[in-house]
Amino acid sequence: MSEGAEAGHPLLRRQLRRLGLQLQASPDLQGWQAFVSRVSRAYAEADQDRYLMERSQALASEEMATLNQALRHERDLLESRVAERTEALRRSEGRLASLVSLSSDWVWEQDTQGRLTYLSEGAVLTAGMPAATLLGRRAQELDGFECDDQTAQRYMQACAQHQPFRDVVHGVRIADGSLRFVSISGEPVFDAEGAFVGYRGVGTDVTAATLASRQLTLMARFDVLTGLPNRAQFIEELDRVVARARRAEGQFGLCFIDLDGFKQVNDLHGHAAGDEVLRVTAARLREELRQSDFVARLGGDEFVVLLPGKVTPAGLARAGEKMLRAIAQPIDFEGQPLHVQGSIGIALYPEDSTEARHLVEQADAAMYLAKQEGKNQVRFYTGALARNVARQFAMELDLRRSFSAGGLELHFQPRIELTSGRMSGVEALVRWEHPERGPVPPAEFVLLAEERGLIVQLGRWVLDAACRQIRRWRDAGLRPPRCAINLSAHQLVSDALFDDMCHALERHGLEGSAIELELTEAVITAQHGRADALLLRLRALGVHMAIDDFGTGTSSLSMLHRLPAQALKVDRSFVGRLPEDDALSVTRGAIALAHGLGMRAVAEGVESAAQLQALKELSCDEAQGYLLGRPLPADAFAAHLRS
Ligand code: C2E
Ligand code: MG
Ligand code: MG
Repeated sequence: MSEGAEAGHPLLRRQLRRLGLQLQASPDLQGWQAFVSRVSRAYAEADQDRYLMERSQALASEEMATLNQALRHERDLLESRVAERTEALRRSEGRLASLVSLSSDWVWEQDTQGRLTYLSEGAVLTAGMPAATLLGRRAQELDGFECDDQTAQRYMQACAQHQPFRDVVHGVRIADGSLRFVSISGEPVFDAEGAFVGYRGVGTDVTAATLASRQLTLMARFDVLTGLPNRAQFIEELDRVVARARRAEGQFGLCFIDLDGFKQVNDLHGHAAGDEVLRVTAARLREELRQSDFVARLGGDEFVVLLPGKVTPAGLARAGEKMLRAIAQPIDFEGQPLHVQGSIGIALYPEDSTEARHLVEQADAAMYLAKQEGKNQVRFYTGALARNVARQFAMELDLRRSFSAGGLELHFQPRIELTSGRMSGVEALVRWEHPERGPVPPAEFVLLAEERGLIVQLGRWVLDAACRQIRRWRDAGLRPPRCAINLSAHQLVSDALFDDMCHALERHGLEGSAIELELTEAVITAQHGRADALLLRLRALGVHMAIDDFGTGTSSLSMLHRLPAQALKVDRSFVGRLPEDDALSVTRGAIALAHGLGMRAVAEGVESAAQLQALKELSCDEAQGYLLGRPLPADAFAAHLRS
């Protein structure tokens, strides 16, 4: 125990005080024991506190370490994930950037007002101008902006409602002055708060596709050659005009125009000349007519005109005459005048019909009549015409049927050699016995067959029937002379003739020289050299050729010279007037020409002894006609062959 009033630790002093002891005075045994037990209790308590403290400290630090480790782990994970994502983002951005720069397409952005705020390189390249000149402008403000109403409306509507839009195509003028078409698609952009901030999208140049589709639309509605509306547009327009006339109780006239002599222009001067005729005719028709009149080209050399408003037949006839005069003016082609004329048929709404389709048929039928009655004229549709057209259709059907059902037959007319009087040839002439109407003249149904595309079939039938008949006669011990067969122009331009000839000869076991083909001057002129090769091939088979109806056509000397023909048949219009002076000199000339070209001269339609005598005196080689023998059915003709 230390000395002094303040000696000893305050704790000790306090304990001593509580026990009623003093530092300076020694305690009694009881006090000492109390003191010692108190001190040891204090120590024990302090130890306990320290232990608890240390224990909780250890626990806390353990927890801290675990937490720390977890956090560290979490952080590592996050870091690697961020790195991964960053790399992916970088790659995808790179990919996008290279795609955007590689493709001709571009990316754009615009603000809430539709002004361009960003354009990728593609747009700049397409436009050929720096981005700066484009940025800040609306598409509608760009040079040469054009867009069809429907698309524009779709775009405006989408923008107003902040909706996406797709494939909005518009035109724009680019740096080099040319017009390009671009297609843009866009989506609205919203910020984090959901407020609209503009659009973002892609653009692509669709100029080629747009121009091609425009061209197609144009071609679908207009005739490329003349620039006139075409058949499709005419049909639409006619429906519109009919509907309008129906509502307003109006009238209108429909004119059908077909050119006469167009085919000859094509044949003689080539297709370029034909095209020029069509172009000029189209322009003249357009010029002659009012703005409100509708002119279209239906195809080939067919035009059609709609004359709306109040129209009288007299007024329509005047309009028709005016068009005819315009068409008939010579057309200059490479310094050469070309001549065509027109035939016009007119049908009236509502007098003739109130149906578009009927009106077209009626105008067509009237035009056909104008052609038949000598061309270069205007004809109105009449009820009688309807009956005629209906009859034509029925006839066509009947003719088609007769190829298989029978009704067609060949008659044979002899050709006589004037010096010897023997039969030097026979001409096969086709006959058609109509089931109700009886015999139809060949001039009528051959024309029908030509017009309705049946002539090749008819020609094939005649060829086969003639060859079969020759075979039959031969098999019956008769010796028929060479048989002449008439050809139509269409047969010469079709590929079928040569094959048909080979088949018929082969099928019936005949040689080519058993057949002679008669070509009229008209046929020769129309083929204009195109069939030269075909005729030479036929000639090589041994087939003979004759020029029919000579004197009625316009064949030139060079044409006749080129033709590999062995006979020239002088038309019966001259022979029939023999021995009149002028007929005599024409016939004499024809015979001299035949001989000059190394052909035999044959006179057609000899009906009298005087004619025959004149022909003999003119040194004509052969003759054919009622006087020498009428066309007869095969069986009756066989009697001729026997005698
Ligand atoms: P075409 O080739 O000139 O035939 C001669 C025509 O004159 C025949 O008329 C014949 O019957 C007729 N005829 C013969 N002798 C006389 C006569 O002395 N006086 C008169 N007035 N006429 C006579 P058809 O049979 O009516 O034939 C008319 C035309 O039809 C033929 O004229 C020919 O161009 C054409 N034709 C006839 N058969 C065929 C054929 O199988 N195919 C083709 N494409 N045309 C044919
Ligand atoms: Mg003939
Ligand atoms: Mg003839």
